[in-house]
Amino acid sequence: MPALCRDCLARFDGAAAPPRRCPGCGSPRILSHPELWSLEIAHVDCDAFYASVEKRDDPSLRDRPVIVGGGRRGVVSTACYLARLRGVRSAMPMFEARRLCPDAVVISPRFDAYAAVSRAIRDRMEALTDRVEPLSLDEAFLDLRGTTRLHGAPAAVLLARLTREIERDLGLTASVGLSYNKFLAKIASDLDKPRGFSVLGRSDAPGFLARQEVGLLWGIGAAGQAALAQAGIHRIGDLLHRDRQALRARFGVAGERLWHLARGEDDRPVCPERDPRCLSNETTFPEDIADRDALAGHLWRLSEKVSARAKARAVAGRLVLLRLKRADHSLLVRRSALREPTQLAERLYRAARILLDQVADPGPFRLIGVGLAEIAPAAQADRDRDLLDPLAARHEAAERAADAIRARFGQGAILKGRALR
Ligand SMILES: [Mg+2]
Repeated sequence: MPALCRDCLARFDGAAAPPRRCPGCGSPRILSHPELWSLEIAHVDCDAFYASVEKRDDPSLRDRPVIVGGGRRGVVSTACYLARLRGVRSAMPMFEARRLCPDAVVISPRFDAYAAVSRAIRDRMEALTDRVEPLSLDEAFLDLRGTTRLHGAPAAVLLARLTREIERDLGLTASVGLSYNKFLAKIASDLDKPRGFSVLGRSDAPGFLARQEVGLLWGIGAAGQAALAQAGIHRIGDLLHRDRQALRARFGVAGERLWHLARGEDDRPVCPERDPRCLSNETTFPEDIADRDALAGHLWRLSEKVSARAKARAVAGRLVLLRLKRADHSLLVRRSALREPTQLAERLYRAARILLDQVADPGPFRLIGVGLAEIAPAAQADRDRDLLDPLAARHEAAERAADAIRARFGQGAILKGRALR
């Protein structure tokens, strides 16, 4: 059976059973799968990314539970594995996280630092293939078809080498899912976290899927799960016995898609996001919010995230989008065009804040989102400051100075007042 040592990258073939330990380096991290050399679609996902960057940059945090999140009234962005052992989860309200883990070190996100690391990881991925599709700062799909000829090694070897380099050069760990399509690669990367490498092949994926709950399927959240439960469908295997036309009649196009996914079929290509038409981020609240200051606090955090992604990709956007979802799930969208593209959190926030202030609907709202569209290269961004907007020039200087100070003195050196709301 094909096998690979994830530490020294030695390859083994032939033997019926893979070695327990690498005969070369003695490592127990042996990866084996009958289809190991032929699978070429991967999902790579850093482990507890924001918290891991914080631990890397401040070694005194290494053995302490670390939560990265938005201040006392915010929610958890990322919890390290020590904090997760105590029950802390992403998107959990911060007060609950503090209750579960009172000795946690709580850190405000430093999106500029994360964007820089993200860029370094992306560069390494793009050295392997030009088909890299980022999903967020710390995860991406890679289509490695054809790279065996180019790099002289199967995708599994290239991926093991990539994670080894990310550890060695960037001080972070990542987990890999390897399969024959995006849907399964994404599931696989989550199976063995942290520092994992999981393989789902054509021979084992359908059987594995059949045992799982439908919530594992792409696009099935709590509402979808409830709808499927009404139809008596709880596990993915339950979908295998349903007629395709009947699923389509009951659930529309989604029903058809579920029929395919349940069989491990997903033909979506890995799309490089060179020129994204929109960069956006949104958050759903644990409880609906009407308070404008609280909404503005979320807006600021989201603006920082969108700005960090824009900076990481060296792009900017001219059109600012604000999305609010009412309690009844109806959507309200407002947009405004800037004089020129921006990638600055401060400018994005100010434009979105004006849009929020103009919303007459008192709410409450269950979701808020902010986006940048009409994407342009960063070189075209934020040039008008001196001529047209002296106030913006001061804000930009402050944001760039804060980036520099955070880069030098580390987390928490500077906190925006509104990040604490
Ligand atoms: Mg991650």
